[in-house]
Amino acid sequence: MRDRFGREITYMRISVTDACNLHCRYCSPLPENEAGALPRKETVPAPAKSIPESAAGQNALLSPGEIREVSAAAVSLGITRFRLTGGEPLLRADLAEIIRGIRGIPGVEAIGVTTNGLLLAGRVRDLADAGMQAVNISLDTLDPDTFHRITGNDGEGLADILAGIRESLAVPGLKVHLNCVPQPGINSRDLVRLAALTLDHSLSVRFIEMMPIGCGRRAAGFDNRELLERLSREYPGITRDMDEQGSGPALYYRIPGAEGTIGLISAMHGKYCSTCNRIRMMADGRLKGCLSYDSELSVQQALQLESTDARRSALTRVLRQAILGKPEGHCFERPDDVTETACMIQIGG
Ligand code: SAM
Repeated sequence: MRDRFGREITYMRISVTDACNLHCRYCSPLPENEAGALPRKETVPAPAKSIPESAAGQNALLSPGEIREVSAAAVSLGITRFRLTGGEPLLRADLAEIIRGIRGIPGVEAIGVTTNGLLLAGRVRDLADAGMQAVNISLDTLDPDTFHRITGNDGEGLADILAGIRESLAVPGLKVHLNCVPQPGINSRDLVRLAALTLDHSLSVRFIEMMPIGCGRRAAGFDNRELLERLSREYPGITRDMDEQGSGPALYYRIPGAEGTIGLISAMHGKYCSTCNRIRMMADGRLKGCLSYDSELSVQQALQLESTDARRSALTRVLRQAILGKPEGHCFERPDDVTETACMIQIGG
């Protein structure tokens, strides 16, 4: 269906948990005393000692059956592409079951997973067999020390992620994207190295501009226009690749002769809200029409109804409301207008 601004909404991001096994410096909540302000000092949050419990409590997470019901209602409104995210979605042992449930809904065209990759090795085949057609792996650096600085994890996690990437590349037909958030003074030197992975590998390396959400509010970001200039100096002849189209706002480029592509997701310096095609569901069932505003709508009440038909129509109603409530665009350029207090771990990116 179309929203109030004529945008066709065809894509839904579903966060299946708000727990994460990494503690990335720009993805976590701001400390409570800083949530309203924009502090200047940059610190790395302490690493998570163990897998944190869901903030909402594990029982509050939607079951595979509930996620399937919400997805089926979304499909009835014209949504055909789904992405499972988190928190860290691979912390859920039933992720393949969730994927299988969505894949079984007539009309679903694509299912992807966004993961930090720590638990990917050994599970890729299973997830692909369940119906995962694309995997986005977050990777900000190839350097173990920088990895530690960004994620709080010791360097060993990086080796596990690289094993997961290799395993993903070995699955025929599986689309592999690497997502990097460029951070000046932190991973600046990694960006060209990461882009160079596209030379010999059939994958896409995507650079996402830092968004002022949670700890991202006090973390400096990079302007993708500058990054493109830098990549053009390093790789003369880099050009737009119009053949590569994802479900989202990335603009794709290719280094001459490269097997893979480079994607730029420029939320801050290339605002793309006029083509926004998505809604989001947080792990606690809250629906979000835009990353910068908080929202009141939730699927939880609809899911409590007893009859299947009543649940379906209530879910369809609340999803329609969420789509119609989508604002025209984000307001990241006016941080005081941002009403969202949740961080990316809770929202799912
Ligand atoms: N744990 C999974 C992962 O690491 O990919 C999924 C959740 S994570 C919130 C999804 C994506 O959001 C990651 O690629 C991460 O880099 C990105 N992200 C988190 N905080 C961000 C921020 N403030 N600005 C831009 N991207 C952000």
